[in-house]
Amino acid sequence: MRRPFVVLLAALAMPAVAPAQGDSTTAPDPIAQLVARLDLEPYKATIKRLTNFGDRRQGTDRNRAAVDWIEAQLRSYGCSNVARLRYEYQPPSSPSPGGRGGQGVRTDDRGGQGVTPAAGGGRYRGIRARTGVNTDSTKQPDARLRALDAQASTPGEREEVYCTKIGTTHPGEMYIVSGHMDGIGWGEAANDDGSGTALVMELARVFSGPDVRTDRSIRFILWNNEETGLNGSRAYVEQRRALQGSPEEPKWLGMIQHDMMLFDHGMPRAHGTLAAEQRPEADVNIEFQSSAKFAAEAEQLAWTFERANEKYATDYPASVSSHMTNTDSAPFQDYVPAISLRENERGTQIGAGWDPNWHQPTDLYATYGDKDFQLGLNAAQTTLGAVAGLVGATIK
Ligand SMILES: [Zn+2]
Repeated sequence: MRRPFVVLLAALAMPAVAPAQGDSTTAPDPIAQLVARLDLEPYKATIKRLTNFGDRRQGTDRNRAAVDWIEAQLRSYGCSNVARLRYEYQPPSSPSPGGRGGQGVRTDDRGGQGVTPAAGGGRYRGIRARTGVNTDSTKQPDARLRALDAQASTPGEREEVYCTKIGTTHPGEMYIVSGHMDGIGWGEAANDDGSGTALVMELARVFSGPDVRTDRSIRFILWNNEETGLNGSRAYVEQRRALQGSPEEPKWLGMIQHDMMLFDHGMPRAHGTLAAEQRPEADVNIEFQSSAKFAAEAEQLAWTFERANEKYATDYPASVSSHMTNTDSAPFQDYVPAISLRENERGTQIGAGWDPNWHQPTDLYATYGDKDFQLGLNAAQTTLGAVAGLVGATIK
């Protein structure tokens, strides 16, 4: 049976916000005003403060302290209905070798028949560099950080925090805007995923402004246990999917995940090295998954974000592609239109070594410069602009 696609398209349509031509008395675009409430310095400051908790590995005191701090921040922004999801996490008895990261090789992949596709189904192009997860504490040269990251994970109960902007006319319908707050690799998880966590927190701050109204609701969630295999987002889907439409859980209209927002220095060069600076043609990668049940609707949602990027992002453009994978939107993708925003495509680019700090001791706040942070801010502008349109945001 076909889904009611026309209804969905109506829901996804951006409201007409542009002032009528030639009418100088028309009020300014409220979405542009909301986007202007984002700034580079508060975004950087939030990432910096997340790195005070080291790598925030799940099942540790530093992870729990970070969840507490995030909750206190959300409350301070005035975000309503702050709550926690609780679930049990038991690690698998024999972890898969190499984790979820693709084990890249220094090789030219010329494509053609029989080539193994990238994670998510994409095709590798050009030069690939090695990837993997650092599990060796001695690779972290900073003794202070090595000590901060030292406590090992203990199996058991986990918590993750969320809050909700309540819509005024359709409170029982919501978009989910999320990132993951846990990390690995014996660094500070500044990019993966302090950058996505800070983006979601900044949007919670702006949408929670006392003068901001939205027709529909927005839930801001900071997942735990992403790095062990999306356990926190899977737990949310398992516990709350059937509650949709009840007073406890608004109906899900779409899910937007943010993971690694800063670093787009381009393809590795022939000897595996990368450009020192953000490439000027860096972009925000918006991905949907073409094999998802809601692929067509997710694609529409992705293009809505691309249009919002063109209209509201100050520096960097956005690209849309079809191989979303290995991220917390995946457990949602067969139930609701789901997309992810990232610095690079996860499968064909991150998986080919485009981010040398990924899961490494070098994923430190100090590793990144303002051109890197600016890419993350442009992703924030993109999501804020798109979601503000989708939920009918206005300023009182
Ligand atoms: Zn991540």
